[in-house]
Amino acid sequence: MFSERLRIILEKMEAAHSRSGRAKEDRCELIAVSKTHPPEAVLEAVECGVTLFGENRVQEAKAKIPLLPSRCRWHFIGHLQKNKIRQALPLFDLLHGVDSAAIARDIDRIAQESGVFPRVLLEVNVAGESSKFGFQPSQLEAQIDELLALSRLHIEGLMTIPPVAGDPEHSRKYFAALRELRDRLQARAGLPLPVLSMGMSDDFAVAIEEGASLVRIGTALFGTRSGKTWKPSEIDSLDE
Ligand SMILES: *Cc1c(COP(=O)(O)O)cnc(C)c1O
Repeated sequence: MFSERLRIILEKMEAAHSRSGRAKEDRCELIAVSKTHPPEAVLEAVECGVTLFGENRVQEAKAKIPLLPSRCRWHFIGHLQKNKIRQALPLFDLLHGVDSAAIARDIDRIAQESGVFPRVLLEVNVAGESSKFGFQPSQLEAQIDELLALSRLHIEGLMTIPPVAGDPEHSRKYFAALRELRDRLQARAGLPLPVLSMGMSDDFAVAIEEGASLVRIGTALFGTRSGKTWKPSEIDSLDE
């Protein structure tokens, strides 16, 4: 049951928080990653008090979000394609996956045209994996001033997805590296970058110990994903 899985996760988050010795106000927030799951599953989560959700496909989110209560907040956690920026801006409170200076400039320009000030996180490829999106740490240090100068973007912090590991302890050094990079960028730019989005179903407790402010949890809450994105059924779409 969702409520039982949620209770267990909140308990583990609380325990990790206490172990980390972080201040009470410095709370880590849970993002329920609802990608691929139907609106009914999200509604069950809402009924258990969850209101912050993560999606990684703009089309899927665009179809799903209007079917859910307006008190829900949505974060985009995927790789944003240039041609989806305009549609993504009104849907999401925070864009986690800003993974290049080029996409940051595109978002800035489209935000200007749309009259909005999007909140974003910069995605860092901390392990330098060739298969992954994201800034290399040294590249981000070189480009941070230029990125912070983009007048429409509220850059609030960093996000990372560490290499897949069997043991959550293997993620620790990557989470610590993201925090240390954030501290260096902050000192250098003289601007706060308070948000660290790190930790998923298997390693969120370690991420909280290393300073995560947002954990993105899918499988441990909603169960395994089928792999396919959710689409409204044909009957629903005929109603439009
Ligand atoms: C799918 C996804 C998650 C959730 O992963 P789980 O292992 O199911 O908790 C977290 N972050 C990102 C960026 C994702 O794409």
